[in-house]
Amino acid sequence: MKIGTMLIHNSAAKEGHTGALGTPVFQTSTFDQGVSFRENAPGEAPVQREFDYARSGNPTRKALEETIAALEGGAKGYAFSSGIAAVASALGIFSAGDHIITAEDIYGGSYRIINTFYKRWGLEVTAVNAQNIDEIRRSLRPNTKALFLETPSNPLLKITDLGAALAFAREAALVSIVDNTFMTPILQRPLELGADIVIHSATKFLGGHSDVVAGLTVTRNEELGKRIYAMQNGFGAVLGPWDCWIVQRGIKTLKIRLEAQQKTALFLAKRLLDNKNVEAVYYPGLENAEGKAVHDAQASGPGVVFSFKTKTTAQALRFLGKTRLAAAAVSLGGVETIASYPVKMSHASMPQAERERLGITDTLIRISAGLEESEDLIADFEEALL
Ligand SMILES: *Cc1c(COP(=O)(O)O)cnc(C)c1O
Repeated sequence: MKIGTMLIHNSAAKEGHTGALGTPVFQTSTFDQGVSFRENAPGEAPVQREFDYARSGNPTRKALEETIAALEGGAKGYAFSSGIAAVASALGIFSAGDHIITAEDIYGGSYRIINTFYKRWGLEVTAVNAQNIDEIRRSLRPNTKALFLETPSNPLLKITDLGAALAFAREAALVSIVDNTFMTPILQRPLELGADIVIHSATKFLGGHSDVVAGLTVTRNEELGKRIYAMQNGFGAVLGPWDCWIVQRGIKTLKIRLEAQQKTALFLAKRLLDNKNVEAVYYPGLENAEGKAVHDAQASGPGVVFSFKTKTTAQALRFLGKTRLAAAAVSLGGVETIASYPVKMSHASMPQAERERLGITDTLIRISAGLEESEDLIADFEEALL
């Protein structure tokens, strides 16, 4: 079955008792276990209910977890209360004294939990330029346990060669983790490229409507699934049933939203390239984009997010204040166009020197193209750039 069909026909598609087209919201914290205490008729096996307490499992959550596992082609799926809870839980399977290698330009919130919490708890971390596979190789230590990647990167859309990096991780017996939020299982399939764990902020494209905060994790095998489940159940950052239902509803239209929004992103990126107040545009959909060949080989589209630099800081600030159709906001992946300002938003917690080294300047604006008409968007953008 193709993935577009799996968005519609999946674990949550039909409810067994009534035939309703969708798993109901099981808004309950606990499940009656009385049946397991009932005296059995001779020869009758004791009844064991599947669910006992909703932190440990809930039917609405289970349907979403099975859906994301199927979409990514993995063994097990887990739904968390946010994308960052999914990241934190994946890193939580390691121990003090373990070393992990991360890309230096991962999501700002991931950077923050690694640097403020995990280092304090004794995890050793090396952040590398993951565009350079030799840098990843050189960072290997005897106690290295994991490789954490994100491509295209945020906010400069830099590309990591997943095939090469994940092959190295396998060779060195590392657990490889890929944050696939920007691409979704439609455009990029990390498990097929060799990853062990895939993470999504479902707040973004999977939810798709800027109306829910959620995280999803998929593991290659059952063994890693058990380790993630121990974190999910132990720390309890689970996604509530209502939010699971909202994400599941968003997933149904993922393909058609992505296709339309990606087309708009390409249109806007090309037009901004010609704007006299624009210094540079960063988007793997553009012909001369750095890493385009690698991206094209590992993903089936450039995605919906791009960024650009204006010539002056004043122009960037004016754009954010003047645009009427783009929300000047954090987040991405919704049906609404969003313009974010990484230095004050997603990457505010990164030290300025580090930001500058990575090219995250105060002229940089990140765009997540929405479902509005592209002609309206470009007219608005060009006006705001005057
Ligand atoms: C937003 C985001 C996260 C964090 O997800 P939340 O749902 O906001 O907690 C992690 N990774 C990437 C790439 C993101 O864009």
